[in-house]
Amino acid sequence: MRWAAEWNRRAFLKTAGLASLLNTALPGSVGAAAARAARGASNFFVPKVYRELGLRPFINAAGTYTTLSASLQPREVLAAMDEAGRAHVDIPELQAAVGKRIAGLLGCEAALVTAGAAAALTLGTAACVAGKDPKAIRQIPDLTGLKKTEVIIQKSHRYGYDHAVRNVGVKMLEVDTREELLAAASDRTAMMLFFNANDPRGRIRAEEFVALGKKLGVPTLNDAAADTPPPERLTMYTKMGFDLVAFSGGKGLRGPQCSGLLLGRKDLIEAAFLNGSPFSDSIGRGAKVGKEEIVGLLTALELFLKRKHAAEWAEWERRVKYIADTVTKAPGVTAEREVPEIANQVPHLAIRWDPSKVRLTNRQVALELREGNPRIELRPGSDREVTPPLLHVGVWMMQPGEHVMVARRLREVLEKGARG
Ligand SMILES: *Cc1c(COP(=O)(O)O)cnc(C)c1O
Repeated sequence: MRWAAEWNRRAFLKTAGLASLLNTALPGSVGAAAARAARGASNFFVPKVYRELGLRPFINAAGTYTTLSASLQPREVLAAMDEAGRAHVDIPELQAAVGKRIAGLLGCEAALVTAGAAAALTLGTAACVAGKDPKAIRQIPDLTGLKKTEVIIQKSHRYGYDHAVRNVGVKMLEVDTREELLAAASDRTAMMLFFNANDPRGRIRAEEFVALGKKLGVPTLNDAAADTPPPERLTMYTKMGFDLVAFSGGKGLRGPQCSGLLLGRKDLIEAAFLNGSPFSDSIGRGAKVGKEEIVGLLTALELFLKRKHAAEWAEWERRVKYIADTVTKAPGVTAEREVPEIANQVPHLAIRWDPSKVRLTNRQVALELREGNPRIELRPGSDREVTPPLLHVGVWMMQPGEHVMVARRLREVLEKGARG
């Protein structure tokens, strides 16, 4: 088997001392740093379960992408989930207690642990459409005879995840301006949806959107799923006045991958809960969270709030600089640090090259890294060919030392491309 051969090669590299190999591959001070860090990278851990399934885990040089399994949970989170799994507990009681704790931590009225941010969008919408009315809860997504059936959204905020809102059966009304929004609002308006990462692209900015919701008496929901760090975002939007705010639990918070948070107004959070699991005849029953995820997310959140964010940021900067310094040794290659304005707002690296010097497309490089050993995944889309070639590297989900491996592989592949 091909994979088996690669594992053997990995085992060989480990015994042969990867650090010394790296030392000969990279001259000067880079070599010394590489050797130091490679001691970490050579510990690249392959869980038995994945090996037995014939899977090849990879170095995450991308970020918290769901398809790439998002983030790794800290030991403490796994331990808390393990402990939570050792006793039976009443789920509504657990949800209420954890919700109260989280609301206290984040200074909002109420909170609910959901099966992800997408689940939070569905439950939040259901809360605005069906409320706590048992008949309406059972009926949706059939909205026949219900009063609140429409959701208003800015055209520039339409996105794939609004499917999670449309699941409730609502009609989406698109607007561009404040005037259009006021004209679109009616007795039928259930909710106003805001996609936080697209705030800079909309004509109605967050604060004005909230003010319009208040003026109209319509609840506003902000999807800020991927927008931590910085940690302040966890409290910022409920304070700003959004009635509901959704976050992913499995992205920057590093909780269970299938967890999320819905924060906001007490009456709406209570209604959101009634529209989901454990209640069998509800729209959100398929988005179940178990005791382990509920406890896991609470633990992840507590850890996140205590984390030394500045030190973590400095480490990401160090990784970005190391990779930039290494890959730009290849002829015709440039590297630029980038921080997205919002969502995944952490240091990344954009790598470009002169295709007349390095005769490779970005797709070829991305595939070589994917197929190599260790397997490395760059940011999704890196395997889509663009001219001039461009690759994005995310460093924040790497394990200590892995940036050295990524730098080395990138340099190796680009230099080979330069030799032709
Ligand atoms: C990731 C993401 C979601 C979905 O989050 P899950 O926790 O995976 O359900 C929703 N909205 C946005 C903007 C996201 O980035």
